[in-house]
Amino acid sequence: MIDHHQEFSTLHDASFIVQEHISLADKNTFGTGGKARFFTQPTSAQQFVQALQFADQNKLDIFVLGGGANILISDEGFNGLVIRPALQEITVQSINDRDVLVTSGAGVAIEDLIKHCLDHQIIGLEEFSGIPGNIGGAVYINLHYYEFALEQFLVCATLINKKTYEIMTVDTSWLEFGYDQSKLQNQEYFVINATFQLTKVDALTAAFARGRSVEITRHRQKRYPYQNTCGSFFRNFHPHEVAHTEKKLIYVAYYLDQLGVKGQLSVGGAIVSHQHANMIVNHKQGSSQDILNLTLMMQDMVYKAYGMKPQPECQLIGFTTNPFA
Ligand SMILES: Cc1cc2nc3c(=O)[nH]c(=O)nc-3n(C[C@H](O)[C@H](O)[C@H](O)COP(=O)(O)OP(=O)(O)OC[C@H]3O[C@@H](n4cnc5c(N)ncnc54)[C@H](O)[C@@H]3O)c2cc1C
Repeated sequence: MIDHHQEFSTLHDASFIVQEHISLADKNTFGTGGKARFFTQPTSAQQFVQALQFADQNKLDIFVLGGGANILISDEGFNGLVIRPALQEITVQSINDRDVLVTSGAGVAIEDLIKHCLDHQIIGLEEFSGIPGNIGGAVYINLHYYEFALEQFLVCATLINKKTYEIMTVDTSWLEFGYDQSKLQNQEYFVINATFQLTKVDALTAAFARGRSVEITRHRQKRYPYQNTCGSFFRNFHPHEVAHTEKKLIYVAYYLDQLGVKGQLSVGGAIVSHQHANMIVNHKQGSSQDILNLTLMMQDMVYKAYGMKPQPECQLIGFTTNPFA
């Protein structure tokens, strides 16, 4: 373990710790992947700055890890600094009798924020009930479920600039959200916290919302796998990618279903879920390579049958090239 304070005398926060050779397999929902060469969990914006300085000074690549619910980590691990924000603060500010601004640290689990809101009779985010991951990762991907996307609730986010360490607050338009998309994906800024405009309601309405939250989670867990998976592996097609097809269907799962992969196609310990053709389950302690080989096979099958190459929604970490390109 490196005590950052001892290594770099210019830094003042003695509680800032960087660990070495830390397992990542227990920090992502597939449960696969190697170790992080360096690993740190900043609990404040200042410690986030220190983490970036540490990476700069040691010429390390950076990966910012959330709940690990949408990543595939190479079996070789990540030969750089993994920063897992542990910013856990949630604050609530009333705008008027009805509207409230809820600000959540990047390290808060989506599920915990929903619970905190419902406990305070605040509704809105329960549409995302049952989705694993943290607030930072949710903003990065513009979390979505049916007609709901996180951008509908987000009003601003506080970010840190990877190169200059500047901390800035940006509004929703700055983030350039789209389906599975945000400006954060150029990896120049990381989320410190995010602010959502939500609705304060009476106790009865909050109780209904809590019931809805439980029901959404129950429905999801009956319909989809929820353990040892990253959810949908491939993003759906953009409309222009399917414009030439007869049905113009954007759903990758539709094409994979036609090819009969569901519950059938497997490599090593990784199998296509029997519940959803676009979800992979690591059911027999498979490796990331098993998952990669399986998904490359799926991509190739769709390409051969339909002439379109599905692209991963799941982020690949620690791989030297993009195998799906
Ligand atoms: C069972 C299951 C069901 C799912 N269902 C859905 C669904 O219905 N809808 C949906 O949209 N997604 C779904 N997902 C995917 C996943 O839950 C979301 O993508 C979630 O937002 C990932 O958040 P995370 O914190 O786990 O991010 P991680 O997986 O840790 O990281 C994902 C990406 O976000 C980046 N990131 C993380 N934190 C930050 C930060 N602070 N600043 C900048 N970048 C950051 C990472 O660098 C990485 O590139 C599902 C996943 C599972 C396992």
